[in-house]
Amino acid sequence: MANVIKPDISVVKEIISSGGESLKKCYQCATCSVVCNLSPDDNPFPRKEMINAQWGLKDRLVSDPNIWLCHQCSDCTAYCPRGAKPGEVIGAVRKMTIAHYAVPGFLAKMVGNIKYLPLLIAFPVLFLLAVLGATGHLHIPDGEIVFGHLMPHTLIDMVFVPVAMFAALVFAVGVLRFWKDIHGQCKCSLASLIPAIISVKLDILAHNKFRKCEVNKGRALAHMGVFYGFIGLAITTALAVFCLYILGQHSPYPQLSPLKIIGNISAIALLAGITLVVINRLRVKAQAGIGSYFDWLFIGVIYTVVLSGILAEVTRLMDIAMLAYPIYFVHLVSVFFLFFYAPYSKLAHMVYRSIALVYAKKNEKKDNPFSV
Ligand code: SF4
Ligand code: SF4
Repeated sequence: MANVIKPDISVVKEIISSGGESLKKCYQCATCSVVCNLSPDDNPFPRKEMINAQWGLKDRLVSDPNIWLCHQCSDCTAYCPRGAKPGEVIGAVRKMTIAHYAVPGFLAKMVGNIKYLPLLIAFPVLFLLAVLGATGHLHIPDGEIVFGHLMPHTLIDMVFVPVAMFAALVFAVGVLRFWKDIHGQCKCSLASLIPAIISVKLDILAHNKFRKCEVNKGRALAHMGVFYGFIGLAITTALAVFCLYILGQHSPYPQLSPLKIIGNISAIALLAGITLVVINRLRVKAQAGIGSYFDWLFIGVIYTVVLSGILAEVTRLMDIAMLAYPIYFVHLVSVFFLFFYAPYSKLAHMVYRSIALVYAKKNEKKDNPFSV
């Protein structure tokens, strides 16, 4: 008996409301798949993803690794003769996929909808205020500005370690579900994936895929700033833990200590990178679209994290306690927001894209000289 495909209008509406409003304009000419520099010859995208999206075939879309091979360079959007903006549609499908695999589902829905933003912000604000209040720290400390006097490192650990563990757990569940869905198409053992993992990691570090963007040529540099800024800040955090727990040294650290130098350079890289992202988006908005709320929420959170971190340091060095401590509190709230909601936000793309790239690398045609 022939398979009957039933369109799902609710899925189509979800994609349209997430930035894929031009979806219905597609008339399947396949120009997008031809112009896409990342589309493999043996399994091209995004034309077939466009028709799956038009029919609302959610199961096919969320388990399609190709939606993650797309790096949203928008070359296809610029060349689409119908103005169907396939790059934006695939971006909306990625958002739906993140929400599909993340648990609990209601949090994913809230992160993807602007009307819940005040509630999402209120949670870390009230939680951190309650922690400070319950431990007698809900006031501007006297004397030299030391952020540990507002929130001692033991309190930081008690709040942020569980937040990180929660995010890691949600990611683990999502990744297992995603891998199960795509692994059905992949006849490979975990050990056999190691060469593919190494190859993909090298590609990511060099940003080789982003370098293939043509319409938005600045995308590689902008993404590198954000990517290496995050890596530098992760190294800074690891160094801070080492200094505190192994060497017994407490902050504030001297401005010329390796920890401070790496932290400050990373913050500047992150700020420069995210600013370039915004400039690029505005520069090519006519050809590539301006992006969705989901994209801009992520941009806004990164700005808040990095600007509050820089301003907290500057006001501390200027010895303005009435500004330094409140700004530091905003920094803590934004870091909480970034990590707690990471599995439901655009940040999740780094996890799902890495897995999809490994899957794709492993399954490249054997006659391809780059296959592993
Ligand atoms: S999205 Fe545009 S370029 Fe791609 S198949 Fe549809 S009409 Fe053609
Ligand atoms: S946005 Fe870029 S990478 Fe994504 S499908 Fe279009 S051309 Fe390919």
